[in-house]
Amino acid sequence: MSAIAQNIRKFRQIVPPGVEIVAVSKFHPASMIMEAYEAGQRNFGESRVQEFVEKERELPKDIRWHFIGHLQTNKVKAVIGKTSLIESVDSERLLELIDRESEKAGVITNVLLQVHVAAEEAKFGFFPEELKAYFESGKFVGLKATKICGLMGMATNTDDVERIRNDFSRIHTLFEEVRSLYSEQLPEFTKLSMGMSGDWEIAMEEGSNIVRIGSAIFGERNY
Ligand SMILES: *Cc1c(COP(=O)(O)O)cnc(C)c1O
Repeated sequence: MSAIAQNIRKFRQIVPPGVEIVAVSKFHPASMIMEAYEAGQRNFGESRVQEFVEKERELPKDIRWHFIGHLQTNKVKAVIGKTSLIESVDSERLLELIDRESEKAGVITNVLLQVHVAAEEAKFGFFPEELKAYFESGKFVGLKATKICGLMGMATNTDDVERIRNDFSRIHTLFEEVRSLYSEQLPEFTKLSMGMSGDWEIAMEEGSNIVRIGSAIFGERNY
């Protein structure tokens, strides 16, 4: 069995059934995705539009693609209708554009809103107060072709486990707040995507139900 297949099998054994595993295949060739696919993996994550579009065209149609990178507004059209979940909706403007383009294309797009709690300035996402304000505005009710299915977030890039745990805990708290306030309007708001190769165990302890695993499945990336 290939190393990739072994890693997939290992993750499937240790991650409980209620947690989705997204194999983050960015920067890796289609052949490596196929190794994971043949081991039964169906959720894959990509972060660059061009690369995603090429792989989506070439690879089996039953793959569920999660788009997890910063999505520029001028590239929205290219991904609409091809994703199972866009996890990285990081602004109201992007959300509205996704909705308009989905409506035009006659598809429903599932999204997560990305939350920014990490220390790094460079990370994208709604700040917690911004996210709450968005829901309080009630504007989400007007979305016609977009389902907000939950939240995605990243912890600060650090070895400080308590810091990581605290970041995840804040995202989880926000998730529960939104879910309890708007469960009637947003019945599909159930997904919380947190955790990567280095911190997925902490993320799961803090309530994650989607983990996005790249290097621990495919090995290191050569950028
Ligand atoms: C690259 C990436 C991952 C996977 O990172 P690994 O550390 O390789 O597991 C997860 N989430 C996002 C948003 C990414 O960009």
